[in-house]
Amino acid sequence: MNKNCHVIAVANQKGGVGKTTTTINLAQALSLHGHKVLMIDLDPQANATQGVGVDLETIKVSVGDLIRDKHARIEHAQFEGADFSLIPSTPMLSRVEREMVGITNSEMRLAQRVEGLREKFDFILLDTPPTFGPLMNTALNAADSVLIPVDAGFFALMGIKELLTEIEEIKSGTNPNLRVLGYFMTLTDNTRMTQETWDGLISAFGNEVLKTKIRRTVKLREAPALGRTIFHHDPNGAGAEDYLALTKEVIELASNAVINESHLKLVSGDLQGVNHV
Ligand code: ADP
Ligand code: MG
Repeated sequence: MNKNCHVIAVANQKGGVGKTTTTINLAQALSLHGHKVLMIDLDPQANATQGVGVDLETIKVSVGDLIRDKHARIEHAQFEGADFSLIPSTPMLSRVEREMVGITNSEMRLAQRVEGLREKFDFILLDTPPTFGPLMNTALNAADSVLIPVDAGFFALMGIKELLTEIEEIKSGTNPNLRVLGYFMTLTDNTRMTQETWDGLISAFGNEVLKTKIRRTVKLREAPALGRTIFHHDPNGAGAEDYLALTKEVIELASNAVINESHLKLVSGDLQGVNHV
């Protein structure tokens, strides 16, 4: 088992904040750093899946099958299109989500699958839907940490409290080790709105806010329509530069998280755990 595998959910129930853009480009940038990366698309809109150029018609096994059927073969659901692997989504996932309601432990099924994948990957990134519900809970149960994109705008900070309440609920129940990896700003420009959102974020979350801001650029908007990451579409532009900077911060935070966990184990006297780190 790869003790250093880090599972990150990119989450914010607000739509259009850059979750999918971040998941795709973070996955690619981590791969460029030599990490083995798996991206799991947990949004029925399948934007991440299509954004890396996968044609929905060609998908045989999707994340919905893995949640619904414990015998579905996971390796069939992986694509090697970009430099990372993908477990794709299809619109059928919304039906799976409706079926999950009321079925005990259905929100833990993906977490169980992910446990078996840790040995193969250094990072597993989960793109999440813009709603609270069984799929969001599925992501929060499978994840070690949550990376929270915040768009520059008037309503940006309003929903975060709700998201933190969800995270706390999962933490106090089924996934006690879940933590917030950090907050970062997306879709920034030179307006006062960007500055005010930044100030609000810093005053609310202080040093949990990553230094990197993802600037608003047309190239980032164009890339998914072409089925490309920003590193293929515009490798020398602002989008690639910002996502590389974000990736460096994420790698550092994730490795600190592993160190912190080993420290906790040391404190609690579990020396065996430390030897593996
Ligand atoms: P979410 O997954 O949170 O709904 P997306 O990543 O799909 O958000 O982004 C919403 C829209 O904004 C998409 O059209 C995307 O291409 C665009 N977008 C995201 N980030 C940027 C950016 N930094 N600059 C310009 N457009 C962006
Ligand atoms: Mg999305």
